[in-house]
Amino acid sequence: MTSASGAVERVLAGLAGLEWLEETYCDLHAHPELSHEEHRTAAVVVQRLQSLGYDVREGVGGTGVVGLLRNGEGPTVLLRADMDALPVREETGLAYASTVVSEEQGPVMHACGHDVHVACLLGAAALMSGGRHAWSGRLVVLFQPAEETADGARGMVEDGLADIVGDVDVVMGQHVLPMPAGVVGTLAGPVLSAADSMTITLHGRGAHGSMPQASVDPVVLAAAIVLRLQTVVAREVAPADTAVLTVGSIQAGTKSNVIPDSAQLKLNVRTYAEDVRAAVLEAIERIVRAECVASRCPREPELELYDRYPLTDNDGATTARVSSAFARHFGDRAAELPQQSASEDFSDIPNALGAPYTYWGIGGTDPDVYAAAEEAGRIAQDVPVNHSAAFAPPLQPTLTTGTEALVVAALAWLGTS
Ligand SMILES: [Zn+2]
Ligand SMILES: [Zn+2]
Repeated sequence: MTSASGAVERVLAGLAGLEWLEETYCDLHAHPELSHEEHRTAAVVVQRLQSLGYDVREGVGGTGVVGLLRNGEGPTVLLRADMDALPVREETGLAYASTVVSEEQGPVMHACGHDVHVACLLGAAALMSGGRHAWSGRLVVLFQPAEETADGARGMVEDGLADIVGDVDVVMGQHVLPMPAGVVGTLAGPVLSAADSMTITLHGRGAHGSMPQASVDPVVLAAAIVLRLQTVVAREVAPADTAVLTVGSIQAGTKSNVIPDSAQLKLNVRTYAEDVRAAVLEAIERIVRAECVASRCPREPELELYDRYPLTDNDGATTARVSSAFARHFGDRAAELPQQSASEDFSDIPNALGAPYTYWGIGGTDPDVYAAAEEAGRIAQDVPVNHSAAFAPPLQPTLTTGTEALVVAALAWLGTS
């Protein structure tokens, strides 16, 4: 038995004492808060961390919370959870379902499972605090706001996170995903895509619908751009690379016989490598500007990037260390994580701290539901995914698995006994 796995056993002996874990999770689930509004959640986190003896900093980048636990000499491990919920009307039928309604955005739900992340990180923080005799070093637990708006991690970085946490040797985080609960999945290299959204405003010249010769028709221009953009992935991205380019919104005009002045497109781009990302964004701009020239536009188009998520590109050595620790602890419940097309702002934190990182997935689907869907060949149809109104991770083994995964990973650096 390696020293780290002896430490795992000793620290996880405290699991039976986490009788508050499920209750805290249900409480968080019933009280979801939108991005940048995680005040109640942060208060729950602060109270728990203080009771566990952590040195707590709150209000970092808005509602962010950082807890530090110094425990002798050794490396520093940072574990991160995100806290925000989504404007989704919950349809899980759970006893602890959300009934929260935001004035501006309507019903609110923890539809991405960030409540799982918060609960599991609090559970891990408690176990590491109680099991101090089995490890040495420094543990940082970080609770981040506003992942869903892509700016919460950056907000904490810009609010002096590096000064608060000091030198960090490794940064780790996890996400609950539509996989069987109890499973943990790791993957080295690009695991989550980079994401970019763009609003494009096209300026034409309005006219009567019966006098097209007097117009520069932005509807026809927008249509030409949408079609030509389909060639970017098909004709400009190498077969071994991947990218997604979706035009999710196209808006112009008010009436059948009025040619409007302008049109607006909204695009979303997903890529798994920075050079591919840059090439796709360059291609979009080139095509849009060229089509505007072709249409005799009276003014240059406006292209505005927003909701930009960094690439999550797991460090090879860090991931290998975590995945072998997971294999030792979880046995055949430790799996390889398929590459995900979703995006995260997690990597903004290790990138700013200059630390290697890995980000893994934990299962959040009832294993029986998953097995039945797999059997029927209907995983895509029958397994509720993140952001859906039916996303309902079972309490167990989800919470215990997520808590254990954080502890096992941290002790791969900090374990001594
Ligand atoms: Zn999400
Ligand atoms: Zn999420």
